[in-house]
Amino acid sequence: MAGIYIHIPFCKKRCHYCDFYKTTNMELMSLCVFALAREMELRSDYLEGKEIETIYVGGGTPSLLHRKQAHLILESIKTRFKTANNTEITIEVNPEDITPTVAGDLIKTGFNRVSVGVQSWNNKVLRSMNRRHTCRQAHRAIDNLQDAGFTNISLDLIYGIPGLTSQEWEADLDITFKKNIKHLSCYHLTIEPSTVFGSMKEKGLLSEIDEEESERQFSILTTRTREMGFVHYEISNFCLEGYYSKHNRGYWEQSHYLGIGPSAHSFNGYSREWNISDIRGYLKSIGMDLVPSEREILDEGMKYNEYIMTSLRTMWGIEPAYIDAEFGKEMYDYLINMASRYFRYGLLEKVSNGRIVLTTQGKMTADNIIKGLMK
Ligand code: SF4
Repeated sequence: MAGIYIHIPFCKKRCHYCDFYKTTNMELMSLCVFALAREMELRSDYLEGKEIETIYVGGGTPSLLHRKQAHLILESIKTRFKTANNTEITIEVNPEDITPTVAGDLIKTGFNRVSVGVQSWNNKVLRSMNRRHTCRQAHRAIDNLQDAGFTNISLDLIYGIPGLTSQEWEADLDITFKKNIKHLSCYHLTIEPSTVFGSMKEKGLLSEIDEEESERQFSILTTRTREMGFVHYEISNFCLEGYYSKHNRGYWEQSHYLGIGPSAHSFNGYSREWNISDIRGYLKSIGMDLVPSEREILDEGMKYNEYIMTSLRTMWGIEPAYIDAEFGKEMYDYLINMASRYFRYGLLEKVSNGRIVLTTQGKMTADNIIKGLMK
């Protein structure tokens, strides 16, 4: 299985917490779409003929694409790559862009899964994060997508936001469950230095929520999703049975993928590439038929770390037999040795098929455990 990720690096304004690569220079959008199509031509051999089972158009704000631009992107993929009949084709959208016409256009263009950046159902919180939409617009967007025929809808929510109480977080989840959606991605806010929140923090105007409140909100999340029948299949991802994000599973299971567009990353099993995070530099380089990317060849240690980092975050966990077969006895012993203290503290457990997974307690400190198991 292989996947394609397309990065649309345009936003009308910058959210205060966001450190993804994006530009607010909308005038470059048309040029960028043609450059994306050209980059696909230049890199059409990257996946060595593997069948494409997932396509993900992310950003930035892909819902700012005009219908013809979205169509050109999907057609370029189908022309250059072999796509499966049941390819999962996801687009990320911002609620304020989703009118009934846009929702209808998205389904006609060929998208069969939508990820909606709701982030919060609370207007006070939305304003504090500098989001463009209101709670009312988010309701309408989901209704419009469902009326247009989308059945596979995912919502993005953020918790752990300064000023968001546990009660407000629980209320956000209650509203979410009334929307009949199949998949949820919930991220704890991290204040990154390069963002507006980051400079507010530096000036002492904002601080992270305390650890106790953070754990309380995570606990509300895991409890409420479980009660509603959602499977907690990755630290930040939950779904009803059968609605896993195939694209994200590809990342976590070391499938090969090609990333197209400024700042997009690619992986083909033995190397990683990443395009420059600079729209003008990207356009100039593609105009000269050069892909502006850097490359890193992965050695055995890096591959092992990559496997630990991605697999432990999921409910499928680490397969010790795979480590033995792929990296040898020495790495297997290293893993078992490093994992032993986390078993003792109740942060890791072995499940029936011998795989090693995080316990509920372990999920709260996953990053530290992952670091502790890496080489
Ligand atoms: S969060 Fe999304 S919409 Fe907001 S600035 Fe970042 S990429 Fe743009």
